[in-house]
Amino acid sequence: MQESQTMRISGLAKQMQAEGKDIVSLSAGEPDFPTPDFVCQAGIDAIRSGFTRYTPNAGIAELKDAIVAKFRRDNGLEFSPAEIIVSNGGKQTLANTMLALCQEGDEVIVPAPFWVSFPEMARLAGAEPVIVSTTMETGYKITPAQLEAAVTERTRLLVLNSPSNPTGSVYSEEEVRALMKVLEDREIFVLSDEMYDQIVYGEVKPFSPARVDSMRDRVIVSNGVSKTYSMTGWRIGYLAGPKWLIGACGKIQSQTTSNANSIAQKAAVAALLGDQSIVEERRLEFRKRRDFMHGALNDIPGISAALPEGAFYIFPSVAEVLGKTFNGKTLHNSTDVAEFLLAEHYVATVPGDAFGAPENLRLSYAASIAELEKAVGRIRTALA
Ligand code: PLP
Repeated sequence: MQESQTMRISGLAKQMQAEGKDIVSLSAGEPDFPTPDFVCQAGIDAIRSGFTRYTPNAGIAELKDAIVAKFRRDNGLEFSPAEIIVSNGGKQTLANTMLALCQEGDEVIVPAPFWVSFPEMARLAGAEPVIVSTTMETGYKITPAQLEAAVTERTRLLVLNSPSNPTGSVYSEEEVRALMKVLEDREIFVLSDEMYDQIVYGEVKPFSPARVDSMRDRVIVSNGVSKTYSMTGWRIGYLAGPKWLIGACGKIQSQTTSNANSIAQKAAVAALLGDQSIVEERRLEFRKRRDFMHGALNDIPGISAALPEGAFYIFPSVAEVLGKTFNGKTLHNSTDVAEFLLAEHYVATVPGDAFGAPENLRLSYAASIAELEKAVGRIRTALA
């Protein structure tokens, strides 16, 4: 496995901050909003009432019921509680799935730009990630022809992440159906990471591949409360899929970590079943920021950014800047650009190399408009 390439630059940013430098950080992978009060209260109540012991390995019945209701309400999906497992964050559900499904010799198709952990999780399971690159011209989405060309006899799994971290792209119903058509007569599974399903801006409506009837037995849906409810530290994710696979993930979990945190499970019930208006308020705030960033970045010569349709990242290309030199140092790739922006202009971003896109930078707009204005101003000065 590779160690996370993003760690070095974020470590550097932290060190500079500790030295008292005024760093603007757009590197966060989490909402800047607090966990809603009513969710915190449910956690506090759980502690006060002594709900502090082991729970069933796959999660408490109350939470599994809440997840069933969430899938029905938000995604048009029907699952039974036996088709659901609760884990320690979306990350664990994804890792468990790869470990349960894949082995030495298998191939896992991962469209790029990808979320950093997908290829490494496939490797952890002994499988080989097969990276399929996409471009801004296709909205950073793979086409059915690309999928067809990537499939071999060894293909075990396709990973789809819509809305995407880092590009913010969202696959439409038509696009999902066309991709599923390529797989329907083959013994290939789909792991659909829908972590950002509630953070979308209306241009394209997300559509779960689990809604395609012919693939219903081979699509596994991963989600969690981290991003929608600003609960990244609570560590609750959930997985829905065929009972046998959920059982296999349960076995792995029972021998490695056991149940997810009992208190956080109670808080997640409150989040999923409580007043959802906070989700809408925050979505609208993210949309304002997205619009600002898209306009402001595209105004800077040397930068071009697609309009993200979901999540809270923008993924501009800095291809035009590559090859330029500052103080005798040439910017060969996005890591060099990110280091230059941080060292000389105190803006922290994440280089696209880590996401399989060496000509891009990932900027998170989980920050106030004032901070975003400051960051964009500095980037403009830096590139000028
Ligand atoms: N999937 C994607 C696409 C993500 O961006 C993240 C978090 O950054 C996760 C999964 C994992 O989320 P969690 O905090 O629930 O483990």
